[in-house]
Amino acid sequence: MKNEKGSLMRPDALPASASRPVVTPLSPSVVYASDTPDMLDQQYEGGLQGYTYSREGHPNADVVAKRLDRMENAPNPGVVTSSGMAAVSAVLLGLTQAGDHVIGGNQLYGRSLRIMSEDLPRLGVTTSMVDPGDIAAMRAALRPETRMILVEVVSNPTLRVADIRALAALAQETGVLLVVDNTFTTPRAFRPFDHGADIVLHSVTKLLAGHSDVMLGYVTAKDPGLNDRLRVFTVTAGMSPSPFDCWLAERGMLSFELRYDRAEATAAVLADHLAGLTGVTRVLYPGRADHPDRALLDDLLGGRFCNMVSFEISGGRAEANALTRAADGLSFAPTLGDVGTTISHPASSSHRALTAGRRAELGMSEGFFRISVGLEDPETLCAVFENAVAAAHSG
Ligand SMILES: *Cc1c(COP(=O)(O)O)cnc(C)c1O
Repeated sequence: MKNEKGSLMRPDALPASASRPVVTPLSPSVVYASDTPDMLDQQYEGGLQGYTYSREGHPNADVVAKRLDRMENAPNPGVVTSSGMAAVSAVLLGLTQAGDHVIGGNQLYGRSLRIMSEDLPRLGVTTSMVDPGDIAAMRAALRPETRMILVEVVSNPTLRVADIRALAALAQETGVLLVVDNTFTTPRAFRPFDHGADIVLHSVTKLLAGHSDVMLGYVTAKDPGLNDRLRVFTVTAGMSPSPFDCWLAERGMLSFELRYDRAEATAAVLADHLAGLTGVTRVLYPGRADHPDRALLDDLLGGRFCNMVSFEISGGRAEANALTRAADGLSFAPTLGDVGTTISHPASSSHRALTAGRRAELGMSEGFFRISVGLEDPETLCAVFENAVAAAHSG
């Protein structure tokens, strides 16, 4: 097609090259042109592989999904979504109907808790929040109409561990779907399908993409029919990811394993260092001997932990303010999994909606912090925290 007169806007084709690009090309095109209606028919029917409209799928999303499928040992092709919450929403809204009941871990990610407590009930789906470490309580919460159980492996921010194998056995026995949000543990430490999960989802925004410049999610189901329903729902609901975000995520994921190993090793050093500091009243780290779920951790994670460390200092909000002010060079930000270490303060952010009493029950005082350990040199990081804890108590 000639376009010398400028009346045709689109180029004929990419310049020819006998060699291929090493890096995945970024494909921002929303639409894909087919040659004939017959070909388009075949594309829609699955006889020909081809993209049509990027909400339905595009190459950059498929590249990321394939990589995640491999990492998670997923039995079916998963779908990449525009955020982790889109993945959570796809499962909760796309696979339930009015009259169903859903059980969620009582320490789920804040927005997951919110959709469970606000949105599902509005649509006629009842919900219960239960401690995922308490199998008897889980069993007691089950009803004939229970459709699924949604849990995270390691809870935020108190880093308690859910007995996924016992939950999987319970789910199987009762015909309920076990859905695992594997964001914290990542497939480096834990692969839920290997332990009996039915559906696995991620916030790719966090450790997987790893640079705090991309918001993406991922979800996939063991059952092919459910897996298809999830894909169709995400497309219909417009939960599709941006090609550029997928492109950045792929780039980030190239170094995921290295970043994870490094951050995990540093987290272990930092946890031990914090535990020895005056003014630190509690340290929670899955790698420490004093972790309350030691046996379960060893069994499920097989020697892998994560990059998250939580700790508590004595004092209240004033001491907490002094600590973050003194933690020079680290971001006080409610996220995790960045290349840089971030500190979050659940009482003023993720858990601010809870009453102080409820926070106390969960073990989150004003002096309670969660650290997402990044790639800094461990000695520097220990020194920064030592200084910040001292500053918190020098006022
Ligand atoms: C961040 C997070 C989510 C939500 O992911 P977004 O990408 O921010 O939408 C869900 N679950 C867990 C455990 C998370 O940490």
